[in-house]
Amino acid sequence: MYYKQYGNTDMKVSAIGLGTLRYDEEDIKAGRFEKCAEIPLYAFEKGINYWDTAPFYCDDKSEIVTGIALSQVKRSDVYVTSKTNFNTLGSNPTRDDFRRRLEMSLDRLKTDYIDFYHMWCMMNLESWEKHMEALYKFFEEAKSEGLIRNIAFSSHMQGNDIETVVETGKFKGMLIGYNALNYRFRQSGIEAAHKNGMGVVVMNPLGGGTIPQNPEAFRYLTEGTDLTVPQAALRFVASHKEITVTLAGCTTKEHIDDAVKAVEGLEERPAKEIVKAYEDRGVSLNNLCTGCGYCVKGCPKKIEIPKFMDAYNQYIFTGEQERVLGRLDSHWDMEKKIAQNKAKECIACGKCEKACTQHLPIIERLKEIAAL
Ligand code: SF4
Ligand code: SF4
Repeated sequence: MYYKQYGNTDMKVSAIGLGTLRYDEEDIKAGRFEKCAEIPLYAFEKGINYWDTAPFYCDDKSEIVTGIALSQVKRSDVYVTSKTNFNTLGSNPTRDDFRRRLEMSLDRLKTDYIDFYHMWCMMNLESWEKHMEALYKFFEEAKSEGLIRNIAFSSHMQGNDIETVVETGKFKGMLIGYNALNYRFRQSGIEAAHKNGMGVVVMNPLGGGTIPQNPEAFRYLTEGTDLTVPQAALRFVASHKEITVTLAGCTTKEHIDDAVKAVEGLEERPAKEIVKAYEDRGVSLNNLCTGCGYCVKGCPKKIEIPKFMDAYNQYIFTGEQERVLGRLDSHWDMEKKIAQNKAKECIACGKCEKACTQHLPIIERLKEIAAL
């Protein structure tokens, strides 16, 4: 395993981290938590010492499974994370709400401290400011008591906004989505964090499945290697000098082996060089939906936006408009006329665009689809 230094600390973390939101669904449903815990334990055997978890993952069982594994290794050999925000605490949280949630995470993780506790999923500066005002003091208090070791944040903001947060100096590290789809949006953010001595952990390195599902569009990442497209996409992220840990969501031991192979003999390079090397390759990647699903909640018309945006991706990949309705029909089982009528229901309220992690013009795209 290849290790990197976490920001300006003396912590050495594995270049691949374990994302714990993909424990086997059937096992989770059946309550076979010990079996699921074999995944972090196997990851540990392979040198992965950074485990990222949160409430709600895997039907809210991820922390429990991760805790079972954590209790079977020497605690100081693993860095474990968890997260909190208004979604977990309610919109007007008190100190007691914060403490109750933190204690629940500690209890589930069977530990008396969390290495990185995240102010979770900051979608924009406005939301971040509200969280800072309501919660940061509770984070600091928990840190002073040793319940959490480091305060981090996770975000779907773009580069400039991330820079604003980073420059407050309030966080030891950050967790952001970064991949071969969206890197141009986020590059300045990771550079700023690195420059400020922060650890940078990356989630969603495969673009929510978009990369493995469109291997031809991303084949260029594999050139000169014997890696598969998903492995090359992991390596693409991990090779950034500014990025400390690349999270791989693993369901099976093979997934772990694949991820470990992706960073064998890793060579680190500055983001600027990497971006330059790739800038004229592939398709117009920042325009793509990654299928993260953040836009769905709150659509007053219950439009399944990720399905429509995934179908629109096909147009971006191929330049063929007819692919959009074809994809909705064949892949998402939405008969063309029904899909178009649904797209027409959009009342342009803008809620989805505010929530979109890729900042896509969803309303415009739905209009286009309706008019095809
Ligand atoms: S803009 Fe349209 S698709 Fe987006 S949330 Fe509003 S109604 Fe739904
Ligand atoms: S439209 Fe945006 S928020 Fe919705 S799934 Fe796609 S990338 Fe995510």
